[in-house]
Amino acid sequence: MILTKRAGEEHDPAELAAFVDAYTAGQVPDYQMSAWLMAVCWRGMSEAETAALTRAMAESGELLELHDLTDTVDKHSTGGVGDKTTLVLAPLLAAMGGTVAKMSGRGLGHTGGTVDKLESIPGFRTDLSEEAFLDQARKVGVVVTGQSKDLAPADNMLYALRDATGTVESLPLIASSIMSKKLAGGAHSMVLDVKVGSGAFMKTLDDARLLAEAMVSIGRHAGREVRAVISNMSEPLGLAVGNALEVEEAVRCLQGEGPADLRELSLTLASEVLAAAGLPSSREELLDAIGSGRAFEKMEEWVAAQGGDPAALGRLERAPGEWHLRAGRSGVVSGLDALSVGRAAGALGGGRSRKDEAIDMGVGVVLHRKVGQEVEEGEALLTVYHRDGRGLEQAQKLLEQGVGIADSATAPELVRVRGIGR
Ligand code: URA
Repeated sequence: MILTKRAGEEHDPAELAAFVDAYTAGQVPDYQMSAWLMAVCWRGMSEAETAALTRAMAESGELLELHDLTDTVDKHSTGGVGDKTTLVLAPLLAAMGGTVAKMSGRGLGHTGGTVDKLESIPGFRTDLSEEAFLDQARKVGVVVTGQSKDLAPADNMLYALRDATGTVESLPLIASSIMSKKLAGGAHSMVLDVKVGSGAFMKTLDDARLLAEAMVSIGRHAGREVRAVISNMSEPLGLAVGNALEVEEAVRCLQGEGPADLRELSLTLASEVLAAAGLPSSREELLDAIGSGRAFEKMEEWVAAQGGDPAALGRLERAPGEWHLRAGRSGVVSGLDALSVGRAAGALGGGRSRKDEAIDMGVGVVLHRKVGQEVEEGEALLTVYHRDGRGLEQAQKLLEQGVGIADSATAPELVRVRGIGR
């Protein structure tokens, strides 16, 4: 396998699957798999090889059987700062007739993953048994729980190896890693939100498009309906960055308020995946689900079903310390670097760099301006919520460096490409 890939030749899909199986079973040592991964980084893989690798990883553990559920829909984001769209989409899609039975990651990074964010709701449980998970999907139409260790374990093993051997940055390896978990997750229709910009994995539009196309192709090979969208991540999504702060913002969005960009992206993603599933998907129908209160009621029902207190939504605990970054001059916000804001939230204790680290749910950053908006000298550009000054100095430095004000600037385009895979 190593020599074939080193020579730039194509693997037989069955041999590739057997290789992954042997690695997962402990019959291929890490050093050989590492050498193969490095060869893939240099030589790449064909669509057929990538599909075979993905399938083998997906089938390395438990496959969630969602066949007896109707209209199963899912979404995945390649990750970004302030990205709380799952919290908006899950109840919105359920209110539109889809079934959202989702396993979600905790995530390493500047702020928590979806599961961490949900845990900022008092009582919310994210450790459901498979039986409880499927039962809730059937009855409520929406359930989100922590990712089982048995979901694509080969990906877990390979990702850890890639992380330690400089082989993460390979398009087919990234695409197959993400899609192996999506395929094992069982949903029939899905939308992928590929982020591009400083706060994203993909820094250029070309790379984002290639990743999106590779993932759509993998989905097709596996008989799923997959659409992808490319969205901007040069500044944070919405205004809130931090676990509880993001839940509150998602709630406001479901109540018809909240920042325009979060609403726009949520509507776009919802529309793509609902259309892929053959469900009502027009903007008017989606806005009606929000305006009529159906989407928020579904969120309350979902939260209650998982043991959370729906009455607490909208007034979650915020860290008591406040600090404001004020504009040093009047002008237009020209930069609000997503990575800097994300790192600042992480420094305050809102994220984790090791799997076992605890997260502070109440800390974070709330923006008062976005790129392209005017500001007067001395006005607050953003507010930092901190606990006893933990990480504040570092957060201040990052934010001061990450914000730019100029004489003029235009807001970046939010949805860069839509409908990939249509
Ligand atoms: N996210 C994943 O799940 N896998 C990768 O390889 C990269 C990002």
